[in-house]
Amino acid sequence: MGLGRDMFIPKQSSWIVRKIIATREWFSTVAISVIPTLQLPIKEGKYSIKIAYGMMLPQYPKVNLKSLVILQGPIPRHQFIIWLALHQRLSTVDRLRKWGIQVQTDCVLCENVVIESHEHLFFDCGYSQHIWAAILQWVGLNRDIGYWHSEVEWLGKKVRSKRPWNVILGFLFTATVYHVCMERNNHRFNKQKKTFESLIRDIALQLHIVGQKHVRWALCLHRLNRFPRV
Ligand SMILES: [Zn+2]
Repeated sequence: MGLGRDMFIPKQSSWIVRKIIATREWFSTVAISVIPTLQLPIKEGKYSIKIAYGMMLPQYPKVNLKSLVILQGPIPRHQFIIWLALHQRLSTVDRLRKWGIQVQTDCVLCENVVIESHEHLFFDCGYSQHIWAAILQWVGLNRDIGYWHSEVEWLGKKVRSKRPWNVILGFLFTATVYHVCMERNNHRFNKQKKTFESLIRDIALQLHIVGQKHVRWALCLHRLNRFPRV
């Protein structure tokens, strides 16, 4: 059956049926003409409410988010922050402004004239980029740092294996995100600043303290028996 603009909506239909028909019409006319690449919410020749609903939800990268949140080892407060970050729920300035809360918009970490957003903090910001790069170098990884989605995607694949180095990498990522958030809060609300060196040392120390409970990490920790270079 064609999904034309003139589709007949029976007057006696319930509210929800009328909405469903209207949604079909919207997809068939507005959405498809505006977004040519949009996937049709049709399965086996039939219109699918489930697919249509999924298409209307915000899209997150298809990575194993659960792996990053439920890693062995992360400190609970780090887990909480990474969960918020993975769901783009950190209270960054761009989100605060949407709620009508007025704060200084510039990034307090790199002090650039840029509206602080999730995308900026991770890892467009020179400050957080510097920290994550130092941590990666510490574990012997020299790679260009991407933006949030590419870093999460890269890590999501790594942490699936549960090898000690990968679990440690996941721990360090969650710790980095946590410390960047805390440092941002301290800069913004308490006017307190830590040096790069002390923040990176905190992350390294936390890894070694938590690592005492993980026998499989011992060999890796032995090789990380020095502070990261800043
Ligand atoms: Zn910044």
